[in-house]
Amino acid sequence: MSKEAREGLGFGTQAVHAGVSPEPVTGAIMTPIFQTATYVQTAVGEPRKGSYDYGRTANPTREALEASIAVLENGSSGIAFSSGLAAIEAIVKRLSVGDHVISEENTYGGTTRLFTKIMSRLGLKFTFLDTRDPSEVANAIRDETKLIHLETPTNPLMRLSDIPKLASLAHDAGALLSVDNTFASPFNQRPLELGADFTVHSSTKYLNGHSDVIGGLIALRDPELTEELLFIRKTSGAVPGPMDCWLTLRGIKTLHVRMRQHNSNGLAIARYLENHPAVEKVYYPGLPSHPQHTLAAEQMDGFTGMVSIDLGTLERAKTLTEHLSIFALAESLGGVESLISVPALMTHASVPEERRLAMGINPGLVRLSVGIEEEADLIQDLDGVLG
Ligand SMILES: *Cc1c(COP(=O)(O)O)cnc(C)c1O
Repeated sequence: MSKEAREGLGFGTQAVHAGVSPEPVTGAIMTPIFQTATYVQTAVGEPRKGSYDYGRTANPTREALEASIAVLENGSSGIAFSSGLAAIEAIVKRLSVGDHVISEENTYGGTTRLFTKIMSRLGLKFTFLDTRDPSEVANAIRDETKLIHLETPTNPLMRLSDIPKLASLAHDAGALLSVDNTFASPFNQRPLELGADFTVHSSTKYLNGHSDVIGGLIALRDPELTEELLFIRKTSGAVPGPMDCWLTLRGIKTLHVRMRQHNSNGLAIARYLENHPAVEKVYYPGLPSHPQHTLAAEQMDGFTGMVSIDLGTLERAKTLTEHLSIFALAESLGGVESLISVPALMTHASVPEERRLAMGINPGLVRLSVGIEEEADLIQDLDGVLG
């Protein structure tokens, strides 16, 4: 379906159709997996079509996935990477020695590790802070600040940052704003509409949705930035394989159906946990008790299946996570099946302990990725262990 024909259509219709058109030779309704490394040229230096000269530069299956994320995020272009971290890395690789980045302190653990262990060594400067408070961000801006990197909601504390406010702060300072939208998915939040320059995903999570592919995606609007990122990807090489692109494209076709169920299961479980005496604290932006519930309702259309709870001690966190039968004890999130984890010992083990504790990532903190199973079965599973 052409871009013009799609305008005015609802999210679910776009999730099914965006980026995909019948294959010209056979009319195949699904974009084929173009499993090829190179393309035969008609004459020296003359590819048959556009940039189809080598698989790192261009691949039709990958392009279909890229066109799809561009539409769903309401951007102009999409760029696919071999992982979410490769996508974040590409955004940071636009910068040069001495440039300064302000990053939300409670990002995905791997993002912090990329910034502190590799990018700092190469001469970029980072300030990590609580981006919930725009005045803290404003105070940290320097002449060299080129990028503000947010994650909202954050992992695993479900902190929110005000995307429109931080976008204008960034732009007034001559910097760009990137938002890791992995937790929300474009079904629930579209940062480009709120002023961000880049929206970035670990498509490993909700977008693919079936826990069987590692991938990353960026959507953006600016043609020059698109060219820069395509150049970085071609030159650095972090491209996804055609089969992974095809699987992710297939996953995206049911994104809206899955997200509706994730959102409603997530809310039901957050409410159940909030009323349970064994649970000290529930972190879920969809609950009125969340300190940023108003902002959540303003910039999000739904609140996902991600719920974190504090059980007070590691002992209790282990008892819960190790004795459930439907929730599987595993890292990752956003798949159809429910997962549960202890961030301090698993996903966030690489964050220094004093920073973890200062933020509230206590040993008793448990993160649930609520899947799309039946709500009653999930609650019964939790209730069987929590008592
Ligand atoms: C998983 C994740 C990443 C990293 O993505 P990979 O696909 O594992 O490289 C980045 N940000 C968030 C919020 C994530 O959950």
